[in-house]
Amino acid sequence: MSDNYDVIVIGAGPAGYVAAIRAAQLGLKTACIEKWQNAEGKGVNGGTCLNVGCIPSKALLDSSYKYHETKTDLASHGINTGDVALDVDAMINRKGKIVKQLTDGIAGLFKSNGVTSLFGSGKLLAGRQVEYTDHNGKTTVLAAGNVIIATGSQPIDIPVAPVNGDTIIDSTGALEITAAPKRLGVIGAGVIGLELGSVWNRVGSKVVLLEAMDDFLAMMDQQIAKEAKKIYTKQGLDIRLSCRVTGSEVKGNEVIVTYQDSNGNEAQETFDKLIVCVGRRPYTEGLLAADSGVNLDERGFIFVNDQCATNAPGVWAVGDVVRGPMLAHKGSEEGVMVAERIAGQKTQMNYDIIPNVIYTHPEIASVGKTEEQLKQAGESYNVGIFPFIASGRAMAANETDGMVKMIADATTDRILGCHIVGPSAADLVQQVAIAMEFGSSAEDIGMTVFGHPTLSEAVHEAALAVNGHAIHIPNRKKRK
Ligand SMILES: Cc1cc2nc3c(=O)[nH]c(=O)nc-3n(C[C@H](O)[C@H](O)[C@H](O)COP(=O)(O)OP(=O)(O)OC[C@H]3O[C@@H](n4cnc5c(N)ncnc54)[C@H](O)[C@@H]3O)c2cc1C
Repeated sequence: MSDNYDVIVIGAGPAGYVAAIRAAQLGLKTACIEKWQNAEGKGVNGGTCLNVGCIPSKALLDSSYKYHETKTDLASHGINTGDVALDVDAMINRKGKIVKQLTDGIAGLFKSNGVTSLFGSGKLLAGRQVEYTDHNGKTTVLAAGNVIIATGSQPIDIPVAPVNGDTIIDSTGALEITAAPKRLGVIGAGVIGLELGSVWNRVGSKVVLLEAMDDFLAMMDQQIAKEAKKIYTKQGLDIRLSCRVTGSEVKGNEVIVTYQDSNGNEAQETFDKLIVCVGRRPYTEGLLAADSGVNLDERGFIFVNDQCATNAPGVWAVGDVVRGPMLAHKGSEEGVMVAERIAGQKTQMNYDIIPNVIYTHPEIASVGKTEEQLKQAGESYNVGIFPFIASGRAMAANETDGMVKMIADATTDRILGCHIVGPSAADLVQQVAIAMEFGSSAEDIGMTVFGHPTLSEAVHEAALAVNGHAIHIPNRKKRK
């Protein structure tokens, strides 16, 4: 092993491994250091996303949805299944196999692109040197032309409900539950809480989500959030807003949670399991030597500019460890941008168009500005809405909950945002993200020919509705 590289990446999550692959593709001699070890103590790439985040949670969401659909919806299609049983162990094992296949896949991608994969931990020293300690404790100092920090994030703990790995767990523990708990509490009704709560709600747990905020999904367009809350409540999720957890007590196999309810009164709930999902924080433990020259911001994120450069020359940082939404695809795009900049290109990622999805059923997906953000900025805009109840394809699929909401500039008609709760919302919103990237107006989408019958027609109709031209619903605005 030579100790000099053009690029050393610390962390092989979706931000780091993508950065490493792109740098190697551009002809840069690249190493990627990753400290994650699986249950057998073997080094694995993929970070939070592949090991305990995006992928395993979606595997459980898909399995639990199939079970739930078989039990509750197939009869409406004339399919009678008799007794349906869920093997939770098999569901968890399937998830494990997918994780293994994908994390092994990164090793294959590193090999084929010529990235040197190093398992162990990396510490940034002064002058773009990296102290690499392998899993046997052997330390080597590596030198690099550029260093990319991609060390990610970890769940936030709260002293009122300390994780014990048994009755009180975090999102990682929630992916390993071996039997559906009868009563499941979730602290935090955000993206991860809703997804994990949905998994166990579908397989029979009684799920209560305690959320301190007054607004449901405060970062989302509130019309969509309100619609989503109605749908989740119909599904059985008990979402309690303005409820601040003040304490918890583990008694045998139960945990008693005390909280202040929305009227300011003290209340209690007893659960068999409690998942703490109150957010994530940047992970920089043991990463920076005192003289590394890298600054953190006031919230502990690595301070970077719009191009992800830190204040130390030749040191960059990408993904969850820097400002911006904690999303795998945001980190990956930053990784590509930085690799290309190191190679001398002028790449600039577009932070205004980052899709955001909650993978419940139906999904919630959004891109661009919400109506609340536009109101606050004093912008004038038009809104077009199309409900899935008016979509022939949604009816055929028995998936009529939700709507598409398109927002466009009142003067230029340029699309400013799109917010969807409904079937395949994640894939539908991506069409709008592409249109936005090309500076599309609502009229441009309206003039595009959409296949029939598709769920995409709801996007088409919402775009038409922006200017009062929808065909399959009455227009709120009548325009020629
Ligand atoms: C349950 C759950 C579901 C999620 N679902 C989604 C989703 O559907 N879509 C989505 O976009 N996002 C989702 N996320 C968020 C997503 O997982 C993160 O945004 C993403 O993983 C961040 O990527 P990253 O590369 O910045 O960091 P990470 O994926 O956290 O990777 C960082 C890596 O750096 C390694 N590391 C840290 N310090 C060192 C060091 N000193 N030396 C060597 N290695 C080090 C860590 O071991 C880790 O492997 C989910 C998260 C969770 C928890």
